[in-house]
Amino acid sequence: MPLYEYYCDPCDGIFETLRPIREASDPVPCPVCDRDARRIMPTSFTAFTFRDGYPRKLPDKGTYWHLGKEVKKRVTGGMRPNEHPELNKRRPPQRKSKGEISVEKEKAQLRDKERKKMLSSGVRPSGRHLPKSLRK
Ligand SMILES: [Zn+2]
Repeated sequence: MPLYEYYCDPCDGIFETLRPIREASDPVPCPVCDRDARRIMPTSFTAFTFRDGYPRKLPDKGTYWHLGKEVKKRVTGGMRPNEHPELNKRRPPQRKSKGEISVEKEKAQLRDKERKKMLSSGVRPSGRHLPKSLRK
């Protein structure tokens, strides 16, 4: 028997039921309130995270549904579209390339050189920018 999806208006929830094809379009009693639920097209709701404004998946276990998969928490910022922290592992932070590292090293060396030049020419950079050991 094929699996069909039904939507219950009073509960604002959807559920799935196995039914013979010829009965597929007949209403099915909702597992929660026992009222007639009408059939919806498969996958028409599966692209949502259910709950909070979206239909609930019945029977309601207090979980959320993300792209048809059950999760415990809702997506909270910082994820790519259509990803969920419980379903998609976070990618490791991007490492700096060799080029970037050598550029940073060079900048630090130049900064150091500049400071030494200033010190030797008698110009004292303002105290805030000096390391503690050089302050009077
Ligand atoms: Zn219901």
